[in-house]
Amino acid sequence: MIILVLNSGSSSVKYRLFESEGEQCLAWGVVERIGASGALLKHNRIDGDGVKLGGDIADHSRAIEFILAILVSPNHGVIKDLSEIGAVGHRVVHGGEGFSGSVVIDEDVMKQLFECIELAPLHNPHNIKGINACRKLLKDVPQVAVFDTAFHTKMPEYAYVYGLPYTIYKRYAVRRYGFHGTSHRYVADRAAEMIGKPLEELNLVTCHLGNGCSAAAVCKGVSVDTTMGFTPAEGLLMGTRCGDIDPAALLYVMGREDLDINTANSMINKHSGLVGISGVSNDMREIEEEIARGNERAELALNVFCYRLRKYIGAYAAAMGGMDGIIFTGGIGENSSEVRKRSLEGLSFLGVELDEKLNMARTSEERFIDRGGLVRVMVIPTNEELVIARDTLELVSK
Ligand code: AMP
Repeated sequence: MIILVLNSGSSSVKYRLFESEGEQCLAWGVVERIGASGALLKHNRIDGDGVKLGGDIADHSRAIEFILAILVSPNHGVIKDLSEIGAVGHRVVHGGEGFSGSVVIDEDVMKQLFECIELAPLHNPHNIKGINACRKLLKDVPQVAVFDTAFHTKMPEYAYVYGLPYTIYKRYAVRRYGFHGTSHRYVADRAAEMIGKPLEELNLVTCHLGNGCSAAAVCKGVSVDTTMGFTPAEGLLMGTRCGDIDPAALLYVMGREDLDINTANSMINKHSGLVGISGVSNDMREIEEEIARGNERAELALNVFCYRLRKYIGAYAAAMGGMDGIIFTGGIGENSSEVRKRSLEGLSFLGVELDEKLNMARTSEERFIDRGGLVRVMVIPTNEELVIARDTLELVSK
């Protein structure tokens, strides 16, 4: 079956077209700058053909029209007719407490998705726009929603309840949800295959380190804790997000600087993290370059980043009563040997022994980077789109 996977963001739609039997990605690309001047479709085909097309792309519906048109185009397409698309899988950021797995989208699901907008006002509305556009353009093709939060819905209550009045949780569903679930699930599955044991027999700490960063404690296949919370701002330090902070410190700064909620929100989500501490960049490559030039604040930013990750790895080993593996994924996790090295420093008491040479290898390929001790350390490139395609196939085949 041909499956289209879509990730609809605020100003972009990313896509991948899979041939599900062989799990082959036939074409992939992105529409960028939706609604702005200079909107652009970048399209790649499995045989190496690539094309960039500018156009008037005012909204998500138009962006998806562009994508569908290029997929069937005589010069750059990979299918002859849109009727060949058997299903569409959508990445949806927030599924709230209601969605513990992927679902075929019907009217009921759409209603629930709208209810989740309140929990993720920056993400879910765009995901919904993508779904609506597909429902309009590909009328009878089944659509599936795959949630970033779903993998974490089995967290125990004591891991997700905040220390706020319980009535606040009940009234507003303010609790920890966690994100990046599709990525944590994928790398945990791959790690079990690499180690050669069933996932149900392993305790793994999965570290998704990209622009957004989160770690998860995957205990016998179940995410029992994760660093992101009610929103993706909690937990690890990230490119522009602050991660863990004393909530009273934020209130104090709001008072001193006379910040309103929107400005404070923008400070913790867009101007903090690596860029906030270093003052130079949210991009780990540039942080590492600045460190090489002797920039002390870039050095501090990297140290905060790695120290916090190390603390969480230790905490999750404790939460699971031991740990068999640590997995690094995401742009930073797959590529930065320095981050991996600094994050694992001093963890030999837990059985973590990094192999310097394997860690330094100039590749982001899937591999072990430990010395074969108690705790296996792995680099595994994530593949969220493949998980979405697999879930979509499974649900529509039922
Ligand atoms: P992602 O959101 O998964 O695309 O990851 C983006 C992050 O990965 C950015 O902070 C990049 O700087 C970082 N990244 C990508 N390649 C490298 C690299 N070779 N070394 C260090 N960081 C990298």
